Amino acid sequence: MAKQANSEDLEIITSPLLSVLKDLHSKYKSLREGAVANYIPELAKVNPDLFSICIVTVDGQVYEVGDSQQLFTIQSMSKVFAYGLALEDHGRDYVLTRVGVEPTGDAFNSIILDEQSKRPYNPMVNAGAIATTSLIKGAGATERLNRVLDMFRRYTGHDVFVDISVFTSERSTGHRNRAMAHLMLNFGMIDHNIEEALDLYFQQCAVIVNCHDLAVMGATLANRGINPITGERAVDHQYIKDMLSVMYTCGMYNFAGEWAYTIGIPAKSGVCGGIFAVVPNQMGIGVFSPLLDVRGNSVRGVEVCKELSRQLCLHMFECKGGN
Ligand code: GLN
Repeated sequence: MAKQANSEDLEIITSPLLSVLKDLHSKYKSLREGAVANYIPELAKVNPDLFSICIVTVDGQVYEVGDSQQLFTIQSMSKVFAYGLALEDHGRDYVLTRVGVEPTGDAFNSIILDEQSKRPYNPMVNAGAIATTSLIKGAGATERLNRVLDMFRRYTGHDVFVDISVFTSERSTGHRNRAMAHLMLNFGMIDHNIEEALDLYFQQCAVIVNCHDLAVMGATLANRGINPITGERAVDHQYIKDMLSVMYTCGMYNFAGEWAYTIGIPAKSGVCGGIFAVVPNQMGIGVFSPLLDVRGNSVRGVEVCKELSRQLCLHMFECKGGN
């Protein structure tokens, strides 16, 4: 399914790229629809005007415009990477017994499990992400957190830290997520201490990144798991297709079908206002703009990705080169 890029393709795509990004940035700067997330009180403090777009190619070229160094918490975009770590820790078959791969068509925070299997539907909605995070191995809470932080270090190419204010803000108000964890404990879908699993989930969501990092992380997945800037492997290549498949079908929540239809590349959003997308064998894309639509996706982020997909012909199923 992945498009094979040759160096000629990359040449064509990358040379006018910065001007494409600049044009999109100035076109959508005036779009002020949507609202910042406020159900996690600390997130409501963000400046709604922040806006950046960044592309990193698999050969390590970087194109960025706007507030690309602005820090924010990764939120739901962390779910993709945690899923990769759980797959590395347990293998595909076991992880599938705990978390399914079906899109829900429901909001990211729905309190629903599959009627028959009692599994959460997929690792991209909160219930599935909490179950996924509970699978991450480690001798105790500190070792598990350090494994998560080290994983993000490999993807971003630098040490990462947890925003303690955002973490404690969500920890003290995340009653919905706590309710989901209790439901899964009831059905035996989470084994150990649920408070510890929730803490690790809230911590992974509060990892601090910027828009440049999102594009590098996307480019790492596009580059078969090897960070194109550092050359370090971030994840076993055999799990990339699992990660990208759930991103493609479930990454944009109850907008996932329309996203796949119109934009056609695997992507994941977070309530911080970030979206990262992966064009296999070509590039990672990061967009950051905190104003969200009703589904929790960045308004400008969706528009920018729509245009990038159209202008750069990125849709996975686009027929190229005539009939
Ligand atoms: N930490 C957030 C939550 O669990 C992540 C949600 C999101 O980014 N969609 O509610």
